Amino acid sequence: MGTGAPAAPPAKPAAPAPAEPWRDPAAQPFVRIEGLTKTFGKVYACDDVSLDIYRGEFFALLGGSGSGKSTLLRILAGLETPDRGRILIDGVDVTRLPPYQRPVNMMFQSYALFPHMTVEQNIAFGLRQDRLPASEIRDRVEEMLKLVRMPQLGRRKPHQLSGGQRQRVALARALAKEPKLLLLDEPLGALDKRLREHTQFELVNIQERVGTTFIMVTHDQEEAMTMSSRIAVMDTGRIVQVSTPAVLYEYPATRFVAEFIGGINIFEGRVTAMDEESGLVRVHCDALDAELLARHADPLPEGTAVSVAVRPEKVDVQEARPVRGTPATENVVEGTVLDIAYLGDVSLYRVETAAGAIVRVQETHVERSSEPHYDWGDTLWLSWESSSAVVLTA
Ligand code: ADP
Ligand code: MG
Repeated sequence: MGTGAPAAPPAKPAAPAPAEPWRDPAAQPFVRIEGLTKTFGKVYACDDVSLDIYRGEFFALLGGSGSGKSTLLRILAGLETPDRGRILIDGVDVTRLPPYQRPVNMMFQSYALFPHMTVEQNIAFGLRQDRLPASEIRDRVEEMLKLVRMPQLGRRKPHQLSGGQRQRVALARALAKEPKLLLLDEPLGALDKRLREHTQFELVNIQERVGTTFIMVTHDQEEAMTMSSRIAVMDTGRIVQVSTPAVLYEYPATRFVAEFIGGINIFEGRVTAMDEESGLVRVHCDALDAELLARHADPLPEGTAVSVAVRPEKVDVQEARPVRGTPATENVVEGTVLDIAYLGDVSLYRVETAAGAIVRVQETHVERSSEPHYDWGDTLWLSWESSSAVVLTA
C-alpha cells in the first residue's frame, strides 16, 4: 500500500491541531465517512456508518468481536469495497481509489514482518518499492529506528526480537512512508498484559511526536480509554456513540455503551415524575422496590420505561443509615454483603437488597489496610446522588 505522495524529505509535524476540533463547528474533518454500508451475504458488517475524524486524532473503533470494526478499517484502506457510501480523506473522495493510491497505511495485528529480512530491510521495504534514492531510504530508516527507540537493532532478524520489539518494527515500517492516516487493527493484540500497558503509552507518545492521524481497532475498552482522543463504539455494524473516553464513561447514550465500558449497576423502572426545570426524574424500580432519583437533560413523560445506571465507585457505603437531607442521601438502599473481591487498590462488593436485587459497590483503599472494610453478611447502607446516576432510554 502506498502513500500516493511523491517522495519528499521527512515532513515536520504539522502545527498542533486545536485540542478538541470536534467541538468546533467550523473545523473541517480530515476523514469523513458518509453512509457506509457493507454486506457479506445477509450480514451487515457495516450498516450506514457515518463518522468524522479530525487531523491528529488518535481515534479508536471499539466493539465486540464481529461488530464490524475490521471491515470499516479495511474499507478505509481500500481492501474492501463498500456497497454504499463514500470516504473523503483530506477533502478527496477516495472511495473508488485502489489501496496504493490512498494516503493511508495499515498495521495488522500479526505484524507480517518478512522473516528473512533484517529490521532495516523490513522498514525500507515500501520505500524501495517506491524507488526512493538509497541515501534517502537510509536516512528515513534511521529516523524510524530512532522514533521507535531501536537504533541499535537494525541488523537483527525478526526472530531475534521480543514481541514488543517486533510490534515497534511493524509500526516503524508502517510510518516510514509517511502516510497521512495510519490504520491499526488490534495493534497490541499479540502482547501480554504487562507489555501491552507499557506499549500503549509508547504508541500514544509516538503518535503525538509524528502528528499522524491514527485510527485503531480494539475490543479492549481499557485500551481504547487509555489511548484515544475519541472512541466510536460499534455494535453489529452500527456506531452507537462517538465521544471522548470521559463522556462515554460518565454519559453513556445507551445501555449497550454503559455496560460495555466499565462496571455499572442497571436498574430498570418507570418514570413516575419529572421536574423539567431541574431535570430531576423519579423512577420506580421494581427490583429494588424503591423510588430512585436521577437527572436527565430531556423531558421524560410519566410511565416511560427507562434504566437507571450507577457506577460502583459512585455508591457510598455506610454501616448506619445515612442522615436524610444531604445530596448523597437522595438515593438510599439497604442490603447485605453477598460477595467481596479484594483487588489490592479497590474492593468490590456485591450487596443484596431486601427485594433481592444485587448492587455492585466499589471501595477504594486509600490507606494501607490488609483487608476490606466489610464482611460477608454485614448490613450496609448504600447511597448515591441523583447527579451520579444516568437515565437510559435505549
Ligand atoms: P470485528 O473486526 O469487529 O470483529 P469484522 O469486521 O471482522 O468484525 O466482521 C463483521 C461481520 O462481517 C462479522 O459477522 C463477520 O463474520 C463478517 N465478515 C467479515 N469479513 C467477511 C468476509 N470476508 N466474508 C464473509 N463475512 C465476513
Ligand atoms: Mg477484527
